[in-house]
Amino acid sequence: MHELSIVMSIVETAEEKVKEHHAQTVESIDLIIGDLAGVDSHALDFAWEAAVKNTVLQTAKEKIIHGSAARCIECDCEFQIKELFDVCPLCGEPLLQIIQGKELQIKSMILN
Ligand SMILES: [Zn+2]
Repeated sequence: MHELSIVMSIVETAEEKVKEHHAQTVESIDLIIGDLAGVDSHALDFAWEAAVKNTVLQTAKEKIIHGSAARCIECDCEFQIKELFDVCPLCGEPLLQIIQGKELQIKSMILN
C-alpha cells in the first residue's frame, strides 16, 4: 500500500529527529500533502493508526495541510492548481512549473 510506505518513512524520519535531539516523543507534527501527490486521505489515516503504534509518533498530534502551487512559465504568476493539466488563470498558458503539490513532506515537528 502506497500510503503505508509513506507513513513508514515519516515514522523513520521522526525517530531519527527524536534521537538526534535527545527527545522522548513527538508532541505534534505538521505534514504537507500535495494535491497532486495521489495520496488518499482515508487510506493515510488508516495507515497512520497502524504505523505509529509503539513509535515516537504514537501520541503525536497530526495536522495535515493540503496544498499545491504552480508558476506559469509564460507570465511568471503563481497560483494554486488542482489538476496536473491546469492552465494559467491569467494568460491561459499550459506550460506550468509545479512548485509544490507532488510531494508529501514533514513541515514541522515539535519534540517532547
Ligand atoms: Zn500565465
